[in-house]
Amino acid sequence: MPPFKHTPAPYTGPSKEEVIALRKKYLSPAMFWHFREPVMITEGKMQYLFDEKGRRYLDAFAGIVTVSVGHCHPEVVAAVDRQNSLLQHTTTIYLNNEIAEYAKELADKMPGDLKVVYFVNSGSEANDMALMLARAYTGNYDMITLRNGYHGMSPETMGLCGQHTWKQPIPQGFGVRHAMNPDPYRGPFGNDGQKYAADVADLIAGATSGQVAGFIAETIQGVGGAVQLADGYLPAVHKLVREHGGVCIADEVQTGFGRTGSAFWGFQNAGVMPDIVTMAKGIGNGLPLAAVVTTPEIAASLAKRIHFNTFGGNPVCSAGGRAVLRVIEREGIQQNAAAVGSHLLSRLRALQQKHDLIGDVRGRGLMLGLELVKDRATKAPATAELGEVFERMKDMGVLMGKGGLYGNVFRIKPPMCITRQDADFLVDVMDHAMSTL
Ligand code: PMP
Repeated sequence: MPPFKHTPAPYTGPSKEEVIALRKKYLSPAMFWHFREPVMITEGKMQYLFDEKGRRYLDAFAGIVTVSVGHCHPEVVAAVDRQNSLLQHTTTIYLNNEIAEYAKELADKMPGDLKVVYFVNSGSEANDMALMLARAYTGNYDMITLRNGYHGMSPETMGLCGQHTWKQPIPQGFGVRHAMNPDPYRGPFGNDGQKYAADVADLIAGATSGQVAGFIAETIQGVGGAVQLADGYLPAVHKLVREHGGVCIADEVQTGFGRTGSAFWGFQNAGVMPDIVTMAKGIGNGLPLAAVVTTPEIAASLAKRIHFNTFGGNPVCSAGGRAVLRVIEREGIQQNAAAVGSHLLSRLRALQQKHDLIGDVRGRGLMLGLELVKDRATKAPATAELGEVFERMKDMGVLMGKGGLYGNVFRIKPPMCITRQDADFLVDVMDHAMSTL
């Protein structure tokens, strides 16, 4: 493992077995464990996590793409500590500088007319809000989204999700239509975005009133397995949706804040300009913070009635969010995501030459996916094999993410402070795990 200067504090809490018993008894069974044998994490420092025995792991999943600038980054910790002892909470019914200055700094990061910020606490809430804005502004009801997309766990956003794993059997998805997924690896039209866009035209004509409220998509599908939408798809669909009265929403919950390396926002890679952008996860480096950013005109559609939450833009989270923006800028975090990401991508592509198990390598920056297949011709998902490699990598000190419709995609989305040496270590460990299967 690459050298790293940090000695975790001795862990003095209840034993792992006791924590497992507490969790089983007192936490909802709806949650799940990532590994067969649960890993207990007691400390985090930058791109590394430590368990109760002081064992170090390279974190290749970043608390599900959330720890953007590094676990317990000193500048974020200092900003949070400072605000925490000054003022923890008031809500926006009072004036506070932290949230107002933060809104301006976030708006400065947005292109065009995207200048009005509404703070919430999670990606699900942000997408709920975006849905409401789209409907309030257009006066239309029908929403278009993608099969294999993920947008949240509230009843409204669950209805937007295109994966059965994330759906409860409850009423959901009113007015939501799921378009064919423009997946270059598995989709029927390969990387031809225009052909998938034709399916959206068909959907609007056949399954809606003809008047659309909006279209929402991730620019790279995260939970769905780092699926990059086919070339030209987003510009074509945005045009189509606008022709039918709708607005375009970019779900940047995973792809924002420089994660794709080549741009600060994922939609910039696709050359589109959304009307509403939702963000969470990386925005707060782990703090419960999320936001919706839109144009003054669209924001005004909700101005006639009060729409308000208690915690959104809480001063402690705002202070942390501001520190995240400063660190991204000063430490060249986006540039690091681009450089280490492209090194990682080329090493993974080389690994694909060696292991037939790797069907597809894809992604941008530090949002990468590796799809495992039993057979490259049939593309039969190698879900069990992935599980095996995943466990072995954990035993060798690398915590990976997984996902995709069939659970056969490695999701590599580490804190963006990861080094080239860490990337090499990850690939060597994966190579070893696959070679000894
Ligand atoms: N959108 C995307 C693209 C996501 O990946 C997620 C979370 N995985 C959400 C929305 C929902 O965010 P949260 O879990 O914070 O509600």
